[in-house]
Amino acid sequence: MEDASNTYAPGDESPAASGSSYAAPTPAPDPDIGRRAFRQALIDARLLYASAVDGIYGRSGLFESIADGLNAAISKLGADQHAEVMRFPPAMPRRDFEASEYLKSFPQLAGTVHCFCGSDRDHHRLLARLEQGEEWADQQRPTDVVLAPAACYPVYPVVAARGPMSAEGMVVDVLTYCFRHEPSIDPARMQMFRQREYVRLGTAGQIVAFRQVWIERGRQLAGMLELPHEVDLANDPFFGRGGKIVADSQRELKLKFELLVPINDGAPPTACMSFNYHMDHFAHAWPLRTADGEPAHTGCVGFGIERLTLALLRHHGFELAKWPRRVRETLGGL
Ligand code: ATP
Ligand code: ZN
Repeated sequence: MEDASNTYAPGDESPAASGSSYAAPTPAPDPDIGRRAFRQALIDARLLYASAVDGIYGRSGLFESIADGLNAAISKLGADQHAEVMRFPPAMPRRDFEASEYLKSFPQLAGTVHCFCGSDRDHHRLLARLEQGEEWADQQRPTDVVLAPAACYPVYPVVAARGPMSAEGMVVDVLTYCFRHEPSIDPARMQMFRQREYVRLGTAGQIVAFRQVWIERGRQLAGMLELPHEVDLANDPFFGRGGKIVADSQRELKLKFELLVPINDGAPPTACMSFNYHMDHFAHAWPLRTADGEPAHTGCVGFGIERLTLALLRHHGFELAKWPRRVRETLGGL
């Protein structure tokens, strides 16, 4: 096991590393001070490798071993779900992305893949622009590929193509890097990060029951990891003027809950898990049907692998050897 040489020393006001009771950090006049300090500590300790772009990082061996431990702990927690494991690349067909209506709600977050599709002459022009330090990307053409905005999106067209589900519906286990265009100095707000999810497809009753089970399991996991936490009602960052109305309705219908952990000193706590009920939204995008031919309902529980890793580093320090034994055991004996 590799250990980072530097240790991040959380301030005295930080929640006790051994407790799992929730202690929200005191709001600071500038929450970015705490975010920058934690980010710099992670970079100095070579846990994260910074790049020229905010939110795009390399991860160290130690960081990845914690991430692997989390994935193993989540698999153990979900062993009774008999989930079908699906692994997708961090991209999906543009056609499916359009069908999902993501652009209606979150155009500001989406990432599309563009490529050079020109002739020899266009290539020369491209190289000349590059050499002169001019803008060149506007010559790139859209491909049929977009970056996955959430781990569960590629699942729905695959399941829909199979025809109606059995009466039990199904659970799918996914893990992928996701892209969201939200550059930030907050180390917990990356542009590419991993979501591990269990996705439930079936009737409304099945989804609501699934979500309740996973809210409890999320709490249980945070407790075993000795992370201070609370579960709260939440909403997504819907775009534009109309977005406020959609966000309010999402809250009113109690469609999204989050498990929050304080990560950055002086900043609001960070959503490390989310518990979502999509109603029959995805059955309008794809022909997802229950056994009796009704539009299927869906929901998912999402674990932010990077955020959980950061929360562990924040609360237990940068030296794994000093972490509480129970936490290391939960992570598969790190
Ligand atoms: P936030 O409200 O903080 O933007 P979210 O509620 O939109 O996050 P979800 O769409 O529910 O996030 O994604 C599921 C999980 O993925 C989150 O609970 C979080 O742990 C993780 N996640 C989301 N956005 C990011 C990000 N920019 N960087 C790292 N992890 C993220
Ligand atoms: Zn999802």
